[in-house]
Amino acid sequence: MIKIQISKTHQSKIRKGYPWVFKYQIQNQIPDENQENLGVIYDHNNHFLAVGLWDPCSDLCFRVLNLGKPQAIDRGFFRERLQSAIKIRQGLESQGTTGYRVINGENDGFPGLVLDRYEDTLVLKLYTTSWFLFLDELCELFQNEFKSQQVVLRLARNVSKSLESGSTYRDGQILYGHGDSGWVQFKENGLKFAADVIAGQKTGFFLDQRENRLKIGEMAKGRSVLNVFSYSGGFSVYAWAGGCGSVVEVDSNPFALETSLRNMKLNFPEKSFPAENFVQKEGDAFQMLARLKSEKRFFDLVILDPPAFARKKKHKALALDAYTNLAQAGAQLTSGVLFAASCSAHVPANEFYDAVYLGIRSAGKKCEEIARTEHAQDHPATFPEAFYLKSTYIRVGP
Ligand code: SAH
Repeated sequence: MIKIQISKTHQSKIRKGYPWVFKYQIQNQIPDENQENLGVIYDHNNHFLAVGLWDPCSDLCFRVLNLGKPQAIDRGFFRERLQSAIKIRQGLESQGTTGYRVINGENDGFPGLVLDRYEDTLVLKLYTTSWFLFLDELCELFQNEFKSQQVVLRLARNVSKSLESGSTYRDGQILYGHGDSGWVQFKENGLKFAADVIAGQKTGFFLDQRENRLKIGEMAKGRSVLNVFSYSGGFSVYAWAGGCGSVVEVDSNPFALETSLRNMKLNFPEKSFPAENFVQKEGDAFQMLARLKSEKRFFDLVILDPPAFARKKKHKALALDAYTNLAQAGAQLTSGVLFAASCSAHVPANEFYDAVYLGIRSAGKKCEEIARTEHAQDHPATFPEAFYLKSTYIRVGP
């Protein structure tokens, strides 16, 4: 194993559960040529501190697997971790949910690895190449545990980029089973969804918004809904099931809009979509919101769930401006409820909320917060960087 040395301050952070070491934080020379995928940290007294995944191709080169005492990193270790993760999600299936996150990376003891279940299909997403050496073992373990018919591999952009041509692995590869397309069907709170786990964003669906979708469904009755950044129509399906009066969806991606139609038809086969009270608008959200304002359109419930505006720390200020502009544009279109969410890990919750309130005030509107929400049960967060999702429900006055 690669031995790495870090400062005393960092040692104490790691001891308290922080899971990452970046290249610039390593204090010893590490030979360039090595095939190891595991590393170990000893503290300043030369006592074992942690064992973790070693990834020389990434700036984030060490991710803690186990703390405190040496431990064999083998099938038994992974099985135990998987079973703890499964325990946390118990109960979801009895709520009519067969699409959920089984492993949320570092937060479930599998750093840089996400496992999502879509009924009979498992989607394994890797954020580091270090997992490749364990892949056969993990695939077998996961498949046995869930008796799934298919295991699909998804690779984060940096992992895909670092692969040489002719590599054994590629994004979208079917590790187990033999599906001829990436489309899978699953349930969320009893509602049906289809997702493309090979070509879709994330692992195919934004599973992290399940609890917010449920809440939106509960408040939708009789309301006209504007669903901005609608992707595969998760919020629209819940709003419709909750008895809303109408839906307007906005997304720049035609594939997203098509998938949303597919999901509406799946749940409400007796109605044809699109319809007078179910309209889709393809285009840039900021431009669409401006157009709706110029058309003097008004909605009872506005949903703003954009992609991560800050993918890097240095984009935080720009992202905050964008959240403010979006909230301003959304608030101008309602005197009802505004739901605003952010999935930018680099934007802290309080700064996001401030940006949203600034936007609503700039629209000349009064506002009163109804609720704030964070991560769902199947997306536990155990260290600061893992708290990426935050959202707020706001009553917007005239
Ligand atoms: N609310 C969705 C998830 C949103 S993901 C859900 O519940 O599943 C973000 C979506 O924003 C994607 O579908 C993407 O196509 C869309 N998008 C990204 N930039 C956009 C822009 N400038 N204008 C409109 N849509 C955009």
